[in-house]
This record gives sequence, structure tokens and C-alpha cells, in this order.
Amino acid sequence: MAVRAGQIYIACNPRQPTHLRVDRIYEGRALVTDPSSLHARYRLRWIKLSSLHETGQTRNGIPRRTGYRLHSQPPQLGQILCLRCCRYVDREQLHETRLGVTEPTCKPCADDIAALVATWTTSNDEEIGYRDDVRDVLTAQGWTENSEGALIKNGALWTEANDCLDSGVVGPGQDYSVAFDSGVPARVITAACEAAATEQAGA
Ligand SMILES: [Zn+2]
Repeated sequence: MAVRAGQIYIACNPRQPTHLRVDRIYEGRALVTDPSSLHARYRLRWIKLSSLHETGQTRNGIPRRTGYRLHSQPPQLGQILCLRCCRYVDREQLHETRLGVTEPTCKPCADDIAALVATWTTSNDEEIGYRDDVRDVLTAQGWTENSEGALIKNGALWTEANDCLDSGVVGPGQDYSVAFDSGVPARVITAACEAAATEQAGA
């Protein structure tokens, strides 16, 4: 296999999938950089050509644990390196953000990142959650939702605090309020809310 400037290699050690880009070849050695490193330009170093392999297996089919295997051939004219997967892509295959192309990322990589971010958002939502356990019971007991999402019955009002599981009930005529920490069981909250609503009804 011919080692050529512009080729990308990836470490055979799966625990350390570092990429190398060959910048120059000189007397049996290659001058390489790490294209995905933020400090790529400062990580210039020489590596023996014998450390660069065509595949991740030896001739006997044994997986290599050391050295680097070929990841991508040099770019075609106009191709740009995706800094995430370290493959050369045509310019129109680059993901463009609202700010334009900042850090070159190919479209498939951009999709991967978006999917990853979406899972974080989903798990966050689950973590924050809402007191649906309280809401369901109160709704079944005739509480109705106002435009702000609070539940109202006979002048009493129960609402969730923003972005957490705390909630509170305000008595009829706003004479008093009772705050419930996130750990208060639904049956305690609904009992207090019902008491507040019944008070008004009975008054
Ligand atoms: Zn990519």
C-alpha cells in the first residue's frame, strides 16, 4: 500500500480511536497531525511508515492492536474533511448551521449529533416531569384547567411550580396558600386541595 499525503489513518487500538492525517512523507517517515484534535496544528509529529497499515488485520487475519489502519484516501478536488468522522466529503455534503459552516461536519454526523441531543432532552423531560398523578385525580374530581394550566374548583386553585415537581394550592378568595414539595404524595396533595375546594362550597 502506498502511503500518501492527505490520507487519514485511525489507531488500531479500539480504546483509543485517534485519527492521523498524513501531511508529508520523508525518508521512511510520515509527518502527521491529528485532524479531530482541537490542537491539530500543534500536534505535528513524525511516525514510522511501518506503523501505517492498509487494514486492521495482519496477513494471518489477526486483529492489530498497535499502529494505524487506513481510514480514508486523500480528498478529491474540493472535498473537505468532516472533523467528527474524519472522512472527506463534498462541500454540499457538509452540514450548514445558521452561522454557516463553522466546524466542518458532514450531514450524517450532524444527524447523529442531533439524535444524541434529542435523547438528552427527552431524558431531561422525564426527570422534570409534572405532577400528572395529582392532576389526573383532581381532574377526575371535577377540577377544571384554566388557560395557564392551573386547576380550579370552587375558587380553590392548584398549580405546579415551573420546571420542578413542587406545587401548591391557594384557598378560595386567596386567603391562604399551601406549598407542597416535590416529595409530597399525590394523595396528601389531592386531599388538601379537595378540603380547600369543599370549604368554599360549604361556606
Ligand atoms: Zn462526518
